[in-house]
Amino acid sequence: MWRTEVSNQTPGTPRSTREWQAADSAHFLHPFTDHQALAAKGARVITRGEGIYVWDSEGHRILDAMSGLWCVNVGYGQPALEDAALRQMRTLPFYNAFFQTTTPPAVMLAERLAGIAPGFKHVFFSSSGSEANDTNIRLVRRYWDLMGQPQRQVIISRRNAYHGSTLAAASLGGMPAMHAQGGLPIPGIVHIEQPHDWAHREGAARGLTRDDFGRLAASWLEDKILELGSETVAAFIAEPVQGAGGVIVPADTYWPEVQRICERHGVLLISDEVICGFGRTGQWWGSQTFGSRPDLMTFAKGITSGYVPLGGVMVGERVAQVLIERGGEFEHGYTYSGHPVACAVALANLDLIEQLGLVQRVREDTGPWLARQLATLQDHPIVGGVQSCGLMAAVQLSREPRTGAAFDPAHAIGMVCRRHCFDHGLVMRAVGDRMIVAPPLVITREQIDEMMGLVRQALDRTWEEARASGWV
Ligand SMILES: *Cc1c(COP(=O)(O)O)cnc(C)c1O
Repeated sequence: MWRTEVSNQTPGTPRSTREWQAADSAHFLHPFTDHQALAAKGARVITRGEGIYVWDSEGHRILDAMSGLWCVNVGYGQPALEDAALRQMRTLPFYNAFFQTTTPPAVMLAERLAGIAPGFKHVFFSSSGSEANDTNIRLVRRYWDLMGQPQRQVIISRRNAYHGSTLAAASLGGMPAMHAQGGLPIPGIVHIEQPHDWAHREGAARGLTRDDFGRLAASWLEDKILELGSETVAAFIAEPVQGAGGVIVPADTYWPEVQRICERHGVLLISDEVICGFGRTGQWWGSQTFGSRPDLMTFAKGITSGYVPLGGVMVGERVAQVLIERGGEFEHGYTYSGHPVACAVALANLDLIEQLGLVQRVREDTGPWLARQLATLQDHPIVGGVQSCGLMAAVQLSREPRTGAAFDPAHAIGMVCRRHCFDHGLVMRAVGDRMIVAPPLVITREQIDEMMGLVRQALDRTWEEARASGWV
């Protein structure tokens, strides 16, 4: 017998929460985690998901307002995705695409992505957003070599950007804490300031309208290009809306100006759509929402709604034609480039997004509804401002909203608020003093109301705690 009997048991025997936590801290090194602090507290064990909710090992139901990690866009427990994975696993669980071979799911997904990405005909697959951004660096440098301008090496990114966590992706990102460990960034990557009006409210943005600040922030890109010499600049990379950096929604004037600057200097534009892609902003791509025409687009997360790992790069014709017609062999790729199971799940996911009309729903219904509900928080005594784009939003906490005064960082007010969220059965992320939501795109108006009710309760408790502690 080459096949073994199928068992219906889920892997592992049932254990108590404490047993899971003990084994977890004994063996599992988590991403971005202080392990001593985690061991003292014990991890929350998530055991099940359905729709926009997850359940922990104690049976608590939690409204997942972060879509797992910005990825479970169609919500948990969609049979269409589960069936697609099982069917493909039974037909062909893996084959590579290296040696002049291909598989139907990879072909169909590439074709499908070309259909939903205007101006793009080609795609390069990876298994994650980080890998896809590594691929971007390889592609961009190869492109300029083939164009006879090998001195175009520098990639400009932005402070507080998140582009992943491999050596190259963390270098592209603009997170000071990540650069501080391991001697990053790698050479050839430089950063400019982000278009964040709140962060610049006492500096560059002071006295400017939002639109004028957007144009000013875009001009920083041109300043940097001129400083470096445009003949040395290969590309500019940015997220349409900075996600992990705190849902920083740029002014409408920012992206069109960035587009003009890139064109003026021949610089390639890379739009990192890992969060914004697949409907999050109310269009298939964030670059459509903000009016840019990138040469390359990074995707991951929402392509499979996180059910299985998959990422990649949409490669525009400017780059693809040069690579294909003049490039010979491109010495780059991953074992799992075009993994058939991941591609089959992605196809089912895209079908479902279309069947449910999620992109349009975010644009015309749930996105505007969330914005309206958020606006009701404006007069909360701890809220300095709110911002949203489609179904991603930020609530800026402030010690004194009238003046925009910030809390003492030592009080870690965001973490206080996050604790109150958990206590009320809500997952919300804290980025410094910004509270973030990015719920599954299947969320309904009623569920948005439920979520906002929990957000308000958490804010109330946070304000009470701040007052009792003398922080406001
Ligand atoms: C999450 C993220 C990445 C990295 O993706 P991984 O799959 O974690 O490697 C890259 N870019 C953006 C904008 C992201 O949000």
